[in-house]
Formats: sequence, C-alpha cells, structure tokens
Amino acid sequence: MTLLNSIKSKIVVFSILATLIPSLGLGLLSFRQNEALISETVTRELRTLVSDADHEIELWLDRRMHEVRVSSTSNAVMDGLSAIARPAAKPRAGSGAGSIQALPHYLRSVKEKLDTLQELTVVNPEGRIIASSTQAPVAVKLPQEWSQDALTDGLVVVPPHWDEQYGAATLAVAIPVLSYDNLVLGALVAVLDLSTLQPHLKSATKSPPGNVLLLDADGKVLTSSYEDGKRLVSLESSVFRQLKAHPGESLFFKGMAKREVIGLADTSSELPITILAERDRGEVYDAWVKWRNMFLALVSGLAIVVAAVAFQMGRSIVRPLQKLMAAADRIADGDLEIRLTATRNDELGHLTRVFNEMAGRLRQNHAEIMAANQAMQQQNRVLETLSITDSLTGLYNRSKLDAILSDQLARFRRTQREFTLLMMDIDHFKTLNDTYGHLTGDEVLAAVAQILSQSIRSIDYAARYGGDEFIIILVETSAAQALKTAERICNQVEGMVYNIDGSSIAVTVSIGIVQCQPEDETPIAVLARADMALYEAKRAGRNRAHYGL
Ligand code: GH3
Ligand code: MG
Repeated sequence: MTLLNSIKSKIVVFSILATLIPSLGLGLLSFRQNEALISETVTRELRTLVSDADHEIELWLDRRMHEVRVSSTSNAVMDGLSAIARPAAKPRAGSGAGSIQALPHYLRSVKEKLDTLQELTVVNPEGRIIASSTQAPVAVKLPQEWSQDALTDGLVVVPPHWDEQYGAATLAVAIPVLSYDNLVLGALVAVLDLSTLQPHLKSATKSPPGNVLLLDADGKVLTSSYEDGKRLVSLESSVFRQLKAHPGESLFFKGMAKREVIGLADTSSELPITILAERDRGEVYDAWVKWRNMFLALVSGLAIVVAAVAFQMGRSIVRPLQKLMAAADRIADGDLEIRLTATRNDELGHLTRVFNEMAGRLRQNHAEIMAANQAMQQQNRVLETLSITDSLTGLYNRSKLDAILSDQLARFRRTQREFTLLMMDIDHFKTLNDTYGHLTGDEVLAAVAQILSQSIRSIDYAARYGGDEFIIILVETSAAQALKTAERICNQVEGMVYNIDGSSIAVTVSIGIVQCQPEDETPIAVLARADMALYEAKRAGRNRAHYGL
C-alpha cells in the first residue's frame, strides 16, 4: 500500500491543504493589500517631503536674494562700479579710486555677516572680476548674455553644482547693479554655500519622516537633510534616470549608503535641481514584515497542529480498520475463532460488532456443515460397506469379489506374488432346503460363512459367490498350504452341529482349489479353473477338497 493510498495520509494531506490554502490565500491577499496601502501612504508622504523641501528652498533662496540684493544696492558697490564705468567723470565725494579700493573691504564685511556666502564678487558688464571678498577670487562663469537676462529678470542664477575650487556645492547668483540711467554697471555675484540649506531641509523632514537630497543635473548630491552630508556622493546613473523619468512616483533602489530605500524625485520649482525624498525601506516595511512573519509562523503552527490532529483522527479510524482487515484475513485463511473487542459507539464500533456477529454466524454454519459432513461420511462408509457386503452372510459380495480378484491378478503379474483361490459349494443344499425350509437353509449358509471367515487370516478374503457357493482368496499362499486350509474347513463344516426341531443337520462342503497362473488373463479364467476343480471334488464323492492344475 503506497503512502497516499492509505486513508490516514489522505486525511492528513486534506487537512493541511484545507488549512493552508484559505489561510495562506486570505492572509497573503491582505498582506498584499497592506503592502500596497503602505506603499501608497509612503509615496504620498515622500511627495509631501519633496514639496516641503521645495518650499524650504524657496524661503531660503528668498532670504538669500534679499540679502544679496540689499548688499548690491549699497553705495560702496554703486560707487565702485560707477568709478570703473566712468573713470573720466567727476567723482562724487568719497568715490573714485578710493571707492574701488574700499569695495573689497565692503565685500569682506558683508561676507563675514552672512555665513551662507562662500564668496562675494563684483564683476563688470563683461563678467570680469573687479573686487572680491577673498584674496584669490574664483571666477564665476556667468552666461554669455547675462547682462541682458539680468535686466529682464532682475537676477542671473548660475545653476547649483559641485565646485571643486570651493570643495562645496554652490549656487551663484548675480544681481545687476544699474546706473541711475538704467545702464548695467556690473553685478554683485554671490556664491552661496548650498550646505547651509541642510538645517532647513532637516526641519522639513521632521514630519513626515524621511530624508531629502538635492541633486544636480548629473545626479550628484549637492546637499541633503542628512547630518553627515559629506558621505553623500552621487546617485547611480541608471537609478537617477529612472527617478527622473517617473517624477513623483516611488521606486525601490539602493540609496547612498547602499541601503535599500524607497524614494521619489521631482524637479524643484525654484532651482534647476532635482529633489529626491527617500525613506529606509526596512524602516517602512519593518512592522509589515514582522506581522507577515508572525502570520506565517502562526499558519505554520496551525498547519502542524491540524496535521497532528488529522494524524490522530486518521489513526483512530485506520487502527480499528486494520484490526478488522487482519481479522478478515484470518477468517479468509480459515480461522473462524476470532472475536474483536468493540468498545466504541461510532460507525466503526457498529462495524466491529456486525463483524463479530458475522464471524459468529460463520462459526455456527461451519460447525453445522462439519457435523452434516461427518454424518454423511458415516453414511457413505455404511453404504460402501453395504455395497461390498453380502447381506445374509456378512462376507464380501460378488462384485467386490470381482474387484479383489482383478487386483490380485494385476498384483501377481506385477510382483509374481502368488495367491490361491478356493471355490466351495455346500453339498446337496437343495435337499436341505427342501427338507428344512428356506429359512433354515439361510441359517446354514450364515453358519458356514462364519466358519469360513474364522478360518482365514486377516490378509485373506472370503466372499459369497452366489447361492450356496463361496470363494476364498488366500494371499501369498502355496497350493499345499491352501489344501490344508481347505481340508480344515471341510472338517470344521462337517463337525458343525446344527440342531433343528430336535434333529441334527449334517452339512458338508466340497472345495475346488486353484493357484493363479501366468496364463490367467482374467478373473473368469481363474474362476473357470476353480469351477472345474470343484466339479472334480463333487465328482469324487463330495465333502472333500480337490486341487486343480
Ligand atoms: P450339489 O451337492 O451338487 O451341490 O447339490 P445341490 O442340491 O446343493 O445343488 P445346487 O448346489 O445346484 O443347489 C443350490 C441350491 O441352493 C438351489 C437353491 O434352491 C438353493 N439356494 C440358492 N440360494 C439360496 C438361498 O439364498 N437360500 C436358501 N435357503 N437356498 C438357496
Ligand atoms: Mg450345492
């Protein structure tokens, strides 16, 4: 019986499947929905982060613009640039060469006041540096048509980027300085340190939780809400491309510190930069993963308990069935002495009781059949005896004699073991019958038969051949021995005293003796020779034995 063929295994497998499929199906479905819900919420929060960060940038930028603009309108800047623009014009008091020299001093003092500044530079309309807050100024590359743009927009913004010379992310803003007749005299270029945005970004990420990063056009991190801004380098280009391609949509990717994050990006409305908001994936899904694992552990536990219960249940069904099967096998093998104990009150208990009843009925039927069989055998034996016995004398009858004679002849031919046949006939039996009646004749026949059966050995045979004739077969007996036996029989019959109605009846027999010969083909041949010998005995005067050759 293979494992899955057994009822027990089927019950266990079914129970486990019936537990696992619905619970896992429903559980996983609800976890999937929760995951989608979490993802949706996080995406919404990340979008809020991006827009909050953008707002912070706007505020920060406005303040910086205001500061730079105020600085650009100072007399020091105006005078310095005017002196360069119109060197021939009569300078105002305190202006001219003096005012040009005072410009760096002024710029330095402004820079010292504003810690968001990396450098403050004054450039002429061609973009050449006239004065700077530092000894070795870094040339800010203004766009070609900057003065034109400056007139239209009121300012020129150099896109934020990582500046190797400063070793910092910077944003350069050029505020045009106009003459009284609206000519561009030059510009005040403020190089702003973007890292000063960090505290503002950090305050924007308090709620909802997360972090924001500002990326330049190449995905390089300019600044972020992270405290340790230095470890931020650059976003993997494929990730950056993907984020840019799906603005406002959340993605999973490997963040800066190689951690799995969920993040989304959008372009700032204030600056040509990308704002990336991200959250640690683990942090977002921690509770969800914990619940999922707890659920899986619970379902596994449940499956184990169900399997154990199903196993026990299966065993409680299968064990009595196995007992019934074993009992049925024993009955099939003929052992009816079987009784099962039925203690249960369920279907199996009923089945066991019915089985016991069935076995009991089988036992009873078997006993009746055995008894009937015995009686029949007994009757058969009686019938068999009757079929081979002569009813009057109790000796073998004629048909049995024929069979014995055939056997002996076959045996003789096979083994050369000789036998002798005696054929005897009561002398003048007709007269006896006539004188004393048929019944007396019968009694005499029985009395002679008794003498015959007493005169032979157990291995010999005596039969009534018919009428007043008898046959004796003496097994493995020589002719001389047979003659002796025949003479003894003659004497015994003669000596038999049979009284009836006061007179005693004399009975004698004549016996013809023959020995089996190789020429004796059939029983008839032997009997014919015996008949001849008997005839000779009769002819010689009766009450004698004659051996026929
Ligand atoms: P023999 O000496 O030549 O043999 O003379 P017998 O008178 O005996 O002649 P036979 O043997 O021919 O006669 C046999 C008689 O036996 C004939 C028959 O009436 C009688 N008989 C045959 N069967 C029975 C029987 O069953 N009972 C009785 N009482 N008589 C029988
Ligand atoms: Mg006779």
